[in-house]
Amino acid sequence: MRPIIKSNKLDTVCYDIRGPVHKEARHLEDEGHRILKLNIGNPAPFGFEAPEEIVRDVILNLPSAQGYCESKGLFSARKAIVQHYQSQGIFGVDIEDVYIGNGVSELIVMAMQGLLNTDDEVLIPSPDYPLWTAAVHLSGGKAQHYRCDEESDWFPDLDDIKSKITPRTRALVLINPNNPTGAVYSRDLLLEAVEICRQHDLILFADEIYDKILYDEAQHIPAASLSDDILTVTFNGLSKSYRAAGFRVGWMMLSGNLKDAKSYIEGLDMLASMRLCSNVPNQHAIQTALGGYQSINELLIDDGRLKVQRDTCVELLNQIPGISVKCPKGAMYAFPKLDAKKFNIRDDERLVLDLLKQKKILLVQGTAFNWPEPDHLRVVFLPHKEELEKALIEFGEFMDGYRQ
Ligand code: PLP
Repeated sequence: MRPIIKSNKLDTVCYDIRGPVHKEARHLEDEGHRILKLNIGNPAPFGFEAPEEIVRDVILNLPSAQGYCESKGLFSARKAIVQHYQSQGIFGVDIEDVYIGNGVSELIVMAMQGLLNTDDEVLIPSPDYPLWTAAVHLSGGKAQHYRCDEESDWFPDLDDIKSKITPRTRALVLINPNNPTGAVYSRDLLLEAVEICRQHDLILFADEIYDKILYDEAQHIPAASLSDDILTVTFNGLSKSYRAAGFRVGWMMLSGNLKDAKSYIEGLDMLASMRLCSNVPNQHAIQTALGGYQSINELLIDDGRLKVQRDTCVELLNQIPGISVKCPKGAMYAFPKLDAKKFNIRDDERLVLDLLKQKKILLVQGTAFNWPEPDHLRVVFLPHKEELEKALIEFGEFMDGYRQ
């Protein structure tokens, strides 16, 4: 038989969070090793369980959720999403403007597939959550990475964004709060980004999946609340704030200038109907999640578990000679910098592989987030304080004297 070759559509598609190093970790687990996984933002395995009331809703509704539903999702769930955004000052959104998907992941791919022609460009942050770049490339487009500036609290460099706009640029992606940097953007920054979209006819894609995971009185401002004359597509879901990543529930909401986006909306409607609908039982969690008690806040107050772990992570990383990290103001990740002079790392994937083999700790290399230099890593601070402390002390010992 002829060799079976993957589609060349995948030639430039890359998702290294679950790449070769992740495979090696699974291999080590198969051999009986215990790996500490500081590589993915999956709260439940670290004891951050979903609110009981949303689990109960799913169980109660299971018997009546056996059939398909509307392609865009259950009416009651979409209504709850519309009302939630109304309470955040985003008006004029109809339930028809809300699409529920199997996680935000599915909707990011759908939003790109419905938009891009060959070589159309999308402005994506560097570092990014790499699904954005992968989805653009899978859809035939080109990711133009704009630099986020570590020295300015990892805020997007607006001049870099402007300099990368071409006649083929279709959209600007903002991830706020940010994965992997933990940055939370100010109103002024967001207003400037909106203005760039306005001036260049760009769609604003706002990935706000960490909107409720905020530290030190940081405030999240929904991008959609800042304009009604550009098209804004907001993404959010139950995976992070509601610790229900396995439910695979996310949504996207279109707001602002829908009248000039009729054709794009037709495309999205078609893509939504082609996959019939998303997981029905778990959509029953949405209404209670958004309208109910926000138990995430207990984890973020001064002695809240996530806040304590964020503090521990930042403190211990900054104690390692040659490593420094900006304090994340949101989400569940730190993106420390490795001093180039001290470590002279040429291959950061090899670094995380060596760490995995020696210490059985799994991190993700910075270049997996489309960061251009091999001088950063991403650390997930979900483990309990004691486990995190032990892991970071071991990481420090490993880095001490590490050479390639
Ligand atoms: N967007 C960002 C910024 C993420 O970090 C993630 C997951 O880590 C996703 C989207 C995908 O989330 P979901 O579980 O809803 O597919």
